[in-house]
Amino acid sequence: MKYIDQIDLKEKKVLCRFDFNVPLNDNSYIVDDRRIRAALPTINHALDENAKVIIISHLGRPNGKFIAKLSLNPVARRLSRLLGKRVILSKDCIGEDVRKLIDNMEPGCVIMLENLRFHKEETENNDAFAKELGSYADVYIDDAFGNAHRVHASNVGVTKYVKECGIGFLMKKELNYFKKVLNNPPRPYVAIVGGAKVSDKLQVLINLMKTVDKMIIGGGMAFTFLKAMGYETGNSIVEEHLISVAYSGIEMARKSGVNLYLPIDCVIAEKADQKAVTKIVPVQEINPDWMGLDIGPATITLFTEVLHDARTIVWNGPMGVFEIDAFSRGTFAMAHAVANSHALTIAGGGDTDIAIYEAGESDYITFISTGGGASLKLLEGGKLPAIEALNKTNDE
Ligand code: AMP
Repeated sequence: MKYIDQIDLKEKKVLCRFDFNVPLNDNSYIVDDRRIRAALPTINHALDENAKVIIISHLGRPNGKFIAKLSLNPVARRLSRLLGKRVILSKDCIGEDVRKLIDNMEPGCVIMLENLRFHKEETENNDAFAKELGSYADVYIDDAFGNAHRVHASNVGVTKYVKECGIGFLMKKELNYFKKVLNNPPRPYVAIVGGAKVSDKLQVLINLMKTVDKMIIGGGMAFTFLKAMGYETGNSIVEEHLISVAYSGIEMARKSGVNLYLPIDCVIAEKADQKAVTKIVPVQEINPDWMGLDIGPATITLFTEVLHDARTIVWNGPMGVFEIDAFSRGTFAMAHAVANSHALTIAGGGDTDIAIYEAGESDYITFISTGGGASLKLLEGGKLPAIEALNKTNDE
């Protein structure tokens, strides 16, 4: 694998893939620009080398159609402000106009191509689309860790069509931190998994059981497990078709000696609303029409205790609907507990990063990943297609 600083970029056209999928509010104002800031070391290095920097990214899910609200325009403007130099945004990411724009680039210039996902060919990993993207550049740099678990034209297909390929500083940093966890992590090794998407995470969770010493399951995820253990979970989110898989997960933990911790109490309400009446109940006493929306105080104490001797902690997904104040306490308490531990701590995914920032603990977590899906893929022992594609180009 080549790193950006091992490649000669001087006056070359360098196509850089970033994950600028930033959260926008209704007025298309960037709510959180950390993904743009995380790309600065790579862009600044390319500029220091007097390269012609061509930036590509996706934003949201336009499903192959032009959607004005998902234009990269606010991203280009924010990047321009952060770099202190002009960033030209092209009208499209492929086509004659783009080629002309690139042909006329001077060294030290930055061009951003419009949202890749305005073309369905991007997510289909279409070969002709990848070839066109590749034809713009002498060097391709992938720094989009958040997209690395996907097989798309701009991160997999394109690598066949650029002479020299490598990864940027963010990708390097992400991979290095996950390597620390994957290769002989300091023990006890504890995984904390929360959030809502059971179907996305269940298999990961089961695979993780082969490597961790303790596993904490919170958030919406926990209710499918509680249901599998025979508890009534009211209207809490439960993926019925996954109850049996959750049950085998519990069995597997038991057989492999992994200590599994589930909530013992929770904050319930009739709906996820700040004004809703809330109650704290043991998990055995969830009212039939109410739903569990946060872990309760006894669970916070239990989970904090579980972390006390941990030497490695990975955390993916919040403990409750932390976006609503009334259901945020569990997630923030976990952020404090993880931050106060003496472990190597790696967090990310399902807006866990946002929760950590809101809890004021971002400086006390060893590493906050920019990729939820990609980090889960690595943690479950899988390979990232984007990295595999780059490795192939280096073998040839
Ligand atoms: P994920 O992307 O799967 O990590 O899910 C993150 C989302 O899970 C957050 O937006 C939370 O609001 C949501 N979440 C966490 N706990 C619960 C819960 N008990 N019920 C419903 N949603 C939840």
